[in-house]
Amino acid sequence: MIRIDIISVLPGLLEGPFDHSIIKRARDKGLAEINVHNLRDYSNNKHRKVDDYPFGGEAGMVMSVQPIEAAITQLKSERNYDEVIYTSPDAPKFTQSVANKLSNMKNIIILCGHYKGVDQRVRDHLVTMELSIGDYVLSGGELAAAVITDGVVRIIPGAISDSSSALSDSFQDNLLSAPVYTRPANYKGWTVPEVLTSGHAAKIDDWRHEQALEKTRRLRPDLLDDD
Ligand code: SAH
Repeated sequence: MIRIDIISVLPGLLEGPFDHSIIKRARDKGLAEINVHNLRDYSNNKHRKVDDYPFGGEAGMVMSVQPIEAAITQLKSERNYDEVIYTSPDAPKFTQSVANKLSNMKNIIILCGHYKGVDQRVRDHLVTMELSIGDYVLSGGELAAAVITDGVVRIIPGAISDSSSALSDSFQDNLLSAPVYTRPANYKGWTVPEVLTSGHAAKIDDWRHEQALEKTRRLRPDLLDDD
């Protein structure tokens, strides 16, 4: 069971992503609890303001420390958290191995940034882990939080009905996944590799492994140099 608390100024953006398919099933089965908190509820400001002008006169707005500190302190008073994660494009990448690690945790907070990002003091004093979902800039951290949550929750044992399926996905074992096919074996002359219909389990395993290796060498040779 993992509990994920997401802190956001746009909680509406996170209403859809966790209500379908594997993630919904994981929540229904009690394997994951996902809560979205509106940062504005923690603002001391009478207009529920959560941002302010940057010191030094740069363009754009910066998310203030106060509401973020209040939200995190409130959550921490209720339970212990393994990580307080800030989503940011300048952070280390969210990879399958990070997803595997997070999926073993009990309680995590994900803080979504907006505007120019959060006041650096939030990152220095409150955040314990920072993650980027890729080298591009989004307008807010919600989509990044949705990506991280989905990647983590789908691999919790029991979330995917056949748990061996998650283990054969790309990046587990540093390999891309082999191609997959389903019926019919011949669609208008487009045939599936014969070995797959041979019924010979060991040969099929070998074929899958060779395909995965070949595809990884061709498309992502960097994965093979990793260790
Ligand atoms: N000024 C910042 C970008 C702010 S983008 C910079 O140049 O680094 C606004 C918010 O969107 C960020 O605070 C972060 O929470 C989120 N965000 C944008 N791109 C992201 C990415 N690639 N991965 C994770 N979060 C991202």
